[in-house]
Amino acid sequence: MSYYRFPKNFLWGVATASYQVEGAVKDDGRGMSVWDVFSHKPGKIAEDHNGDVACDQYHRFREDVRLMKDLGVKAYRFSISWPRVIPEGTGRINEKGIKYYAELAEELLKNGIQPWATLFHWDLPQKIEDRFGGWRSRDTSLAFADYASVVSKRLSDTITNYFTINEFFCFTDKSYATPPGGEAFAPGVCLDNAGRNRVRHNALLAHGMAVQALRANAKKKVKVGLAENAVICVPVIERENDVNAAKKAFRLLNGHFLTVIMEGAYPESYLKTEGKNAPSFSEEDMKIISAPLDFVGLNAYSPVYVRASDCEGGYELIPMPESYPRMVMPWLYIGPQILYWGPRFVSELWKVKAVYITENGCAALDKLTDKEEVLDVDRVMFLRQHFMVMHRTVTEGWPLKGYFLWSLMDNFEWCYGYTRRFGVHYVNYQTLKRIPKLSANYYKEVIQRNAVV
Ligand code: BGC
Repeated sequence: MSYYRFPKNFLWGVATASYQVEGAVKDDGRGMSVWDVFSHKPGKIAEDHNGDVACDQYHRFREDVRLMKDLGVKAYRFSISWPRVIPEGTGRINEKGIKYYAELAEELLKNGIQPWATLFHWDLPQKIEDRFGGWRSRDTSLAFADYASVVSKRLSDTITNYFTINEFFCFTDKSYATPPGGEAFAPGVCLDNAGRNRVRHNALLAHGMAVQALRANAKKKVKVGLAENAVICVPVIERENDVNAAKKAFRLLNGHFLTVIMEGAYPESYLKTEGKNAPSFSEEDMKIISAPLDFVGLNAYSPVYVRASDCEGGYELIPMPESYPRMVMPWLYIGPQILYWGPRFVSELWKVKAVYITENGCAALDKLTDKEEVLDVDRVMFLRQHFMVMHRTVTEGWPLKGYFLWSLMDNFEWCYGYTRRFGVHYVNYQTLKRIPKLSANYYKEVIQRNAVV
């Protein structure tokens, strides 16, 4: 008997993303993505790494499914590479690309693992950037909807759970509005506020159009949601006024993405702050953007602490002191309570019936021992603390249905290249051998017992 037992059908999973694990960037007719071009520009990525080979999952997916089977996970969240399926972003379909994802899905299903696919984890076809200006243009939203239709028509016999988009902020603000010298993501341009807000709006529109496209073209009933790195507000003290303040802050700080999708409107405060730079939109746009979802996915890493205040808005954000504990990313402050307040606020504010943690995990300074082990007790600590909090969430009845650990294996960590390791499997980048870390054994035991151990 374990005190921290989870409900019977709780969905334990792992997550990755195409550009971070697949490699094989020139194989079988794949087109270029903005990340291929960006990562090959000197100075953009730590040690000038790139995703050309990554973990070579494209060629080793059967081996990777075996790793998952051994972990005992029930679901794999991976992303589909748009330029692998439609090399120019629009038009011609690359049959070999479709075949790859069909085979991956079949292999997963054969092993009792559900495929959960993300349509867009930032690897925009370079041709779309060149032709339309990428997310600057509404044409990109339309192209994305067509891509979603293709995926749904061709893959929904085996893949029935979809996330439209992964983390709006990262391919809008970080990609199109990071000032020079900042840590930009591909394509790495810096628009003014009006341009950035238009990019945000086109991304929201793409999400909404894709929700419709996925449903309209599905061969089987599909479930659709998104995976958003919402700002997760945690009341600094668990008492009524701080909790209410944190909930208000949660709604407003997510006011340019998640809140818009859930409410079908930009919060007044956003429009007011942006003034003449606010995006222009029609009522029809807002209807599209707010198409009802089957679930909301939260990529949850770090907390923002909030307390009640007399100032406008009724809340105050508490800055992180320098000594606040972190894992090995500058932003990775440890705050397991995010796995309680995130699902709870989403459910309280918008009556969402199913929430998934679509990413959670950490980078650690993993070292191989002489015996080829990685004794990552720091990651085990990190996971255990988060699982205990998730247990509270489900026990209180908040609709948290599953958890996808980031990540199945070490992979290309964007601007950090291979210098940061988030996996529960260690990847030797010389040989591409995968080695289960102690945290993999830990997660396996958690899944097997369906309880925090
Ligand atoms: C992203 C992943 C990334 C992880 C760790 C998330 O923001 O979706 O692609 O590797 O965080 O930085």
